[in-house]
Amino acid sequence: MRVLMVASEAHPFIKTGGLGDVMGALPQALNKENVEVKVILPKYKNISSKYINNLEFIKYFYVNVGWRKQYCGLFRYIYNGVEYYFIDNEYYFKRDNLYGYYDDAERFIFFDKAVLEFINEMNWRPDIIHCNDWQTGMVPVIYRLEYEKRNMYRNIKTFFSIHNLLFQGTFSPEILPELLGYNYEAYFNRSIELHGGVSFMKGGINYSDQVTTVSNTYAQEIQTSQYGERLEGLLRHRSYALKGILNGIDYDEYNPETDQYIYKNYSLGNIYDKKVNKEWLQRELGLPINGDIPIIGMVSRLTHQKGCDLIINSLDRLLQKNIQVVILGTGDRAYEETLRKFNYIYHDKVSVNIKFSNELAHKIYAGSDFFLMPSLFEPCGLGQLIALRYGTIPIVRETGGLKDTVIPYNQYTGLGNGFGFRNYNCHELTHVSEYALNVYNNKQIWNSLIRQAMKSDNSWEKSAREYKKLYIGVINK
Ligand code: ADP
Repeated sequence: MRVLMVASEAHPFIKTGGLGDVMGALPQALNKENVEVKVILPKYKNISSKYINNLEFIKYFYVNVGWRKQYCGLFRYIYNGVEYYFIDNEYYFKRDNLYGYYDDAERFIFFDKAVLEFINEMNWRPDIIHCNDWQTGMVPVIYRLEYEKRNMYRNIKTFFSIHNLLFQGTFSPEILPELLGYNYEAYFNRSIELHGGVSFMKGGINYSDQVTTVSNTYAQEIQTSQYGERLEGLLRHRSYALKGILNGIDYDEYNPETDQYIYKNYSLGNIYDKKVNKEWLQRELGLPINGDIPIIGMVSRLTHQKGCDLIINSLDRLLQKNIQVVILGTGDRAYEETLRKFNYIYHDKVSVNIKFSNELAHKIYAGSDFFLMPSLFEPCGLGQLIALRYGTIPIVRETGGLKDTVIPYNQYTGLGNGFGFRNYNCHELTHVSEYALNVYNNKQIWNSLIRQAMKSDNSWEKSAREYKKLYIGVINK
């Protein structure tokens, strides 16, 4: 079985969030299940130099964007046995950031068309084209409207995975004639229309054979108006073709036994060395060094989605306790500034690091006692999965994938791997955090909680098998 995996980012080449992690790990896990996967992504300027200087040039061809023929270079890199292909056009992708430009519609229509041309240019016909998030949402649309009838392309199935419904890629309807040479039919029949624009996300959902998202709970939630981002009606309509499959994490990349970034490796057998990591983290961040003070860590985009409002409203009260708070993230300026202010006021208790650093992230996962993720919504969430792997106990809001992967500690049975609260409300966050801090004080219970967290199985194998089953089901339909 052949799968062409299409995405706008993939670790270790380029990553801004969870999607990148998934694209770095899922293809390998599928490979192990005997699925032949090729991954295709844009060749951005900021791909790590270690890789970008070692890409193999394969060929070039031209892609029609409206009335223009645009150059499209094709490069390849084989990473852990998986072929990654890079679509090159410096006008579109040699920029400082990945997204957020006035011509994003054009950039990703170019990319999506290049993906479809790739099949012909490489003479490699996949059984499935598996698209991910809005940037790739026009692939199923263009496939259905243009390519489906061509010999080489007949009967290819399309998958569309929603990693975050919030980002929908909605643009002016004029892009249909201007960039694709289409008339307005798909807009007027509302199959890609969303509130007066053309939505790539809606296109992906509507035109694919199968839609998936990254947890069961999120698959249910997005069918309601609270989480559906105005697509809940369509998602309810397509619920027969919508399935939730949980993400995993790369167990080699995130492994406290071998992690090169952390101060001291540890395992289930010697969780006491986790404390060494805590003390080094305190030293590095200029906090008082004391292995007994609990650290609440957070590695996250600093946005509304990630619960920053709750954190900001709870911090003053939580910081009355003997704790330390370590935050790593970038995002909305207002949150960054407010958190910096906490750093200033509580400089001996709070360390706020406004930057993107994989190395510090690993150190925080290893050195913290708690990992905070009070998200407003969370399709799957990887932070809590990584934290569990490092025996760092998640405190989460029970939504989406957080609900599916964090089992609240039960004081009667002793079972569980974290703490959760239900309503988006800072009192619940404070209350459950205070409860968690009490549990921390009982070392026997605490150590067994760490062990239970580290034993949680969130590797990719299980999910890869589920994707494979779904691929087979769709191919045989
Ligand atoms: P999302 O994709 O919504 O941002 P996820 O929890 O699914 O959230 O994935 C976030 C990923 O990005 C995790 O691997 C997390 O460690 C990483 N990450 C987020 N912010 C930073 C940062 N400032 N520095 C390093 N890694 C980060």
